[in-house]
Order: sequence, then C-alpha cells, then structure tokens
Amino acid sequence: MSFKKPGENIITFYRGRFAPSPTGPLHFGSLVAAVGSFLEARSRGGEWLVRMEDLDLPRAVPGAADDILRTLDALGLHWDGELMFQSARNEAYRAALAELEKLGAVYPCACTRREIADSALSGIDGPVYPGTCSGGLPGGRSARAMRVRADSGAVGFDDGLQGRVSQMLATEVGDFVVRRADGLFAYQLAVVVDDAEQGVTHIVRGADLLDSTPRQIYLQKLLGLPTPAYMHLPVAVNERGEKLSKQTLAPAVSVANPVGALFDVLVFLNQSPPSELIDADPGSFWKWAIAHWRAGRLPAVRSRPRSRVKALE
Ligand code: GLU
Repeated sequence: MSFKKPGENIITFYRGRFAPSPTGPLHFGSLVAAVGSFLEARSRGGEWLVRMEDLDLPRAVPGAADDILRTLDALGLHWDGELMFQSARNEAYRAALAELEKLGAVYPCACTRREIADSALSGIDGPVYPGTCSGGLPGGRSARAMRVRADSGAVGFDDGLQGRVSQMLATEVGDFVVRRADGLFAYQLAVVVDDAEQGVTHIVRGADLLDSTPRQIYLQKLLGLPTPAYMHLPVAVNERGEKLSKQTLAPAVSVANPVGALFDVLVFLNQSPPSELIDADPGSFWKWAIAHWRAGRLPAVRSRPRSRVKALE
C-alpha cells in the first residue's frame, strides 16, 4: 500500500486531522478534539483535514454528519482539501485485510461475545481474547470475525502530552478484531489505513483513544505504513467522572454563540484566554487563539471535569 505523499512527510511538514463519528451533534467533548487538533496544526503552519468516521453505519444517526460539518463551518473550523468519508473506503480496508492475510497475521474467529466473556480475563479495553480460534476454527463452526495476532512484545510510543506509553498487546489486549462479525471493518484497521492514505503526520485527539494507539501502531508496522506523532488531550468528564458524550446527554454545541463554546475549550485546555475574547467575532478569536496557542500549557492528564471551566470563568 502506498503512502500518499511520501515526499512531503519531512520534519517541517505538518498535517493534522479531526475524525468525528456521526453518532450525534458536536458537543463540548468532541469540540475539544476539534479545536486542539486545529490549533496545533494552524499554529505550526500545518494543514488540517476532516474525516467523517461513518464506518459504523448501524450506529450513525441520520443527519449527524451534515450537522457536525455545518457546526465546524459555523465555528470557523475550516478544513483543507477534500472531506473523507469512511463509508466510501471499503475497497481500501479490504486491500489492507488481504495484505494482513498474506502475512499470516490474521485468522478467522468463530467465537460469540458470550463465549469470549465466559472464558476471558479482562484487559485494558474489554476481555482479552483467550485465543480459542488462533490455531484454526473448531470443527463445525464458521468464521464470524477476523482477528489479528497480537505480538508478545511491548508496543510503545512517546505521546506529545501524556508522555511514554507502553503496552503488552498480547496480555493487555489480546488478538483483536479487524473485521467484525457483522462484516464491518473495525475502527482500529480503518483509522490506520485512512491516516496513511491522507498523509496525516500528527494526530491530536482525546485520551479515551490512548489505549488504542499501540494497536494502531502495531497495524502500521505490519502494513508498512508510517507512524504519525500522537498527542492525546484530556477528555472532558461530568461531575460523575463520565465522559461527555451522547450517552451522558452532553448538549450540542450552540452555533448561536460560537465564540462562547470555543472560549470554554481554550479555558479547558489551560490557554488562559483574556476575558474580552468572549465578545470577539470568530475571525478575531481564531487570530488570538492561533497566535497564543501553547502546547506546553496543556493539562497532562487523561480526563478533566468540564465543571472546572465553569468555575474558572
Ligand atoms: N472517530 C473517533 C471518535 O469520534 C475518533 C478517531 C480518532 O481520532 O482516531 O471517537
């Protein structure tokens, strides 16, 4: 598989991205990832792409993708180049899976969720697959998912904010799914294929994905794709410590007061915006934010209550 613009992947070149899933409107939590990735890119003179992760169509909410894109636009979060939609990328995922099959890195798995839950130890992200099908499908059973064999060594990387992260894939995650039982390609595979296709050099996203990164680096290595630089921002949580999300009923970002929402994100990310910035128009807001963005001030924690922002105002 070829990397789109290898010649551009030099030290001075920066291409970031924001990759929302269209499961609902943009809310404060997703706005943190959008603004953080945008400012990190723009303050370094880099490009910023948007990719709609609408691969998981059963979970996609009709109209949510358009709604997210309209909101980004209204907030002045203007992206470079073409939008990418994962729903149009099945061919590329299939090619990547074929590559993994050629390497002998994947195997079909017949296990149901319940069978796995009954015999697995729990790992960093759900049950660690006990390896039931790794030596071949049990007699009379047919393949449901495809799994990649996890290597027994450690996979590590230096996160731009969270520091050194190291994971033993085999014992902490286990052999993981790259094509699901419902036939859809798994997020872990799609994200790796797409980041490479788009020539993304720097990934800034929420720390809820920190534990997924070693799986993604592992797949990059298997597929011979470059590993981007990673920076995982704190996830906004409510008073009960739950991630702000559609499930925890996080309200949609209001486009009626775009700068209000953006201002709150800067406070959340310790950028100390001056109080008069809240009355600025989006153009002046971004001018200030890009000029004053300091990655060194970001809170190096995995999560942070959003209420802290309110208290600081
Ligand atoms: N689509 C994922 C999400 O909304 C983000 C994927 C990524 O940034 O790698 O949680």
